[in-house]
Amino acid sequence: MTIVELLREAQHFLEAYSSSPRLDAELLLATELDVDRSYLFSRPETPVSAAQQQNFLAALAARRQGAPLAYLLGYQGFWTLELEVGPGVLVPRPETELLIEQALLLPIKPDARVLDLGTGSGAIALALASERPAWQVDAVDVCAEALQFAARNRERYGCDNVQLVQSSWFDDLDATRYDLIVSNPPYIAEADPHLNGPGVASEPLLALCSGPDGLDAIRAIIRQARQFLRAGGYLLLEHGYDQADSIATLFTQSAFERLIQFSDLAGQPRLSGAQWPGGRDADHGIS
Ligand code: GLN
Repeated sequence: MTIVELLREAQHFLEAYSSSPRLDAELLLATELDVDRSYLFSRPETPVSAAQQQNFLAALAARRQGAPLAYLLGYQGFWTLELEVGPGVLVPRPETELLIEQALLLPIKPDARVLDLGTGSGAIALALASERPAWQVDAVDVCAEALQFAARNRERYGCDNVQLVQSSWFDDLDATRYDLIVSNPPYIAEADPHLNGPGVASEPLLALCSGPDGLDAIRAIIRQARQFLRAGGYLLLEHGYDQADSIATLFTQSAFERLIQFSDLAGQPRLSGAQWPGGRDADHGIS
């Protein structure tokens, strides 16, 4: 069969199973043929070998069964990066780019020390480190498999200012003080049906789900963060659309100040932050 014929069949095959059947088919075929997507349009009559057809059909079948597209492609775009991902690591989501945008706007010194908790594929740490080469970023994950993805992604982008550490949140970190701590922790409630949805069901539960109300990880991070923040340092967390109020309470209970909230493009509050008191002025030696 030719490229154009295969794409037509593939689109039909995925129709009821993906919200973007044509795009999925194009990306999967381009990956299988090891060509750019534009090649599919410029050379539509090119015949596809039997072996390549077979691999492509296997990928379509996996997609139909709910495998995340990024796992089948082996990569996911995030910020300016193309990150290697696969089973065992969370697929970076576009909404997490909001965290990158806002972190880069914080008044933080040029040689800041930054901590990314639960780095997964390294998405947040590498995006920040590539934008701010003078920042020193520690990227932590409890999962060795995730750290292997992060290590390959760090290598790919030559981010020498990122250090990978295996640790459950702060447990195995040195007693360092950071200017900024960021995290996209697990925050979905354990009974949330979203966890069984297509794509998500194949991803590591550890990266998604956190206790009865989804806030277990966030509670632990907010409670311990103050021991790892400099005076005037910031904690910035992604969370679910209905968790902003609970998180504001947690920040206040832990004596954080200057709470900030940001909404995603759909207008939902999905990112909250706060400053550990002591004041930036004190931190910079200005009285
Ligand atoms: N936003 C992701 C989802 O809804 C969850 C990511 C996370 O738990 N950190 O699938």
